[in-house]
Amino acid sequence: MGVMMSETRHTKLLIIGSGPAGYTAAVYGSRAMLEPILIQGIQPGGQLTITTEVENWPGEVEIQGPDLMVNMEKHARAVGTEIVADYINRLDLSERPFKAYSDSGVIYSCDALILATGAQAKWLGLPSEEKFKGFGVSACATCDGFFYRGQEVVVVGGGNTAVEEALFLTNFASKVTLIHRRDSLRSEKILQDRLFKNPKVEILWNHAIEEVVGGDNPTGVEGVRAKHVETGEITEVPCKGFFVAIGHAPASELVKDILETHNGGYVVTKPDSTETSIPGVFAAGDLTDHKYRQAVTSAGMGCMAALEAERFIAATEAE
Ligand code: FAD
Ligand code: NAP
Repeated sequence: MGVMMSETRHTKLLIIGSGPAGYTAAVYGSRAMLEPILIQGIQPGGQLTITTEVENWPGEVEIQGPDLMVNMEKHARAVGTEIVADYINRLDLSERPFKAYSDSGVIYSCDALILATGAQAKWLGLPSEEKFKGFGVSACATCDGFFYRGQEVVVVGGGNTAVEEALFLTNFASKVTLIHRRDSLRSEKILQDRLFKNPKVEILWNHAIEEVVGGDNPTGVEGVRAKHVETGEITEVPCKGFFVAIGHAPASELVKDILETHNGGYVVTKPDSTETSIPGVFAAGDLTDHKYRQAVTSAGMGCMAALEAERFIAATEAE
């Protein structure tokens, strides 16, 4: 019997992540003849695959998020990117070539690396939220909204995601209560307008979620207890589904001990650049961006990262 050896694959440019940043980097990297390999991770297409209409991608008045991401993947493939369904679990950036260890056992080595691992949904952190995850507690209305036809649901949050999720849920639910900790929303005005006009929506301002209440037999949500942030008064809102939409945290697990991060885990890049604290390692998209966090800005940073990686590779090859 032979000894199992890990396969090592070398590429000039490795891209980790298949959201708008990763695929845009792939298009530019391929057209620079760098023959990149792109690793998709567990969410091929990234965050836009869990939404419905995208109405601010220039050139498309309206496009479904998953369709937009299929288009981007096709584009990256068409210009020559090798797209791999794999997950990177560890990086060694101590020397070049850099190494990325994957769940499939393949070790990817590269001259330049683009990190585009995006962001993930945040949770409230309540024990009762954890208990009912998958049993009425969700962070994805487009994934789970269908289960609540004719029932009451609650959404928590005040940003674009919360408002979009609340509006989407009105397609199924009999009533949607949005609970927000302040007295104004931070979402786009056009979305707020739609929300306030929707007769199925009720808003509970200035309340924080205390607890998700539910039963054990069968396991399921029956409501939430919310506390007024000033008076402390408790309001119980009955619901079968509870959707957490309180924002996203950067997916910087792989690099949090290797690269400089700030503002709660976002990878620091040099001004007007995607360069990180390690030469040859570039970061793009929601992983680095605590300010804009849009598909189009992520794509823009993916472009910058590929152009900078190309220059880095050319300079090191000339050494
Ligand atoms: P992401 O889209 O987050 O993709 C990250 C990628 O990295 C994924 O493919 C994941 O599988 C991969 N990955 C992560 N870790 C690993 C690993 N260890 N190994 C391999 N791969 C890994 N923006 C807009 O402009 N318009 C909108 O209408 C809009 N709607 C939204 C609706 C919702 C519900 C949400 C959640 C977000 C929305 N956004 C919208 C924001 C937008 O989706 C993000 O700004 C954008 O997707 C960020 O792109 P990204 O490429 O940085 O990363
Ligand atoms: P976000 O803009 O960061 O908003 C998070 C919301 O959750 C805020 O209202 C915040 O309250 C609230 N919140 C945070 N922590 C909380 C907690 N522990 N308890 C209760 N409430 C809490 O996040 P997002 O809505 O997910 O959006 C993320 C990014 O994606 C944004 O840049 C957004 O523009 C983008 N996006 C765009 C679209 C679109 O263009 N249509 C759609 C979805 C997302 P405060 O307001 O009090 O801080």
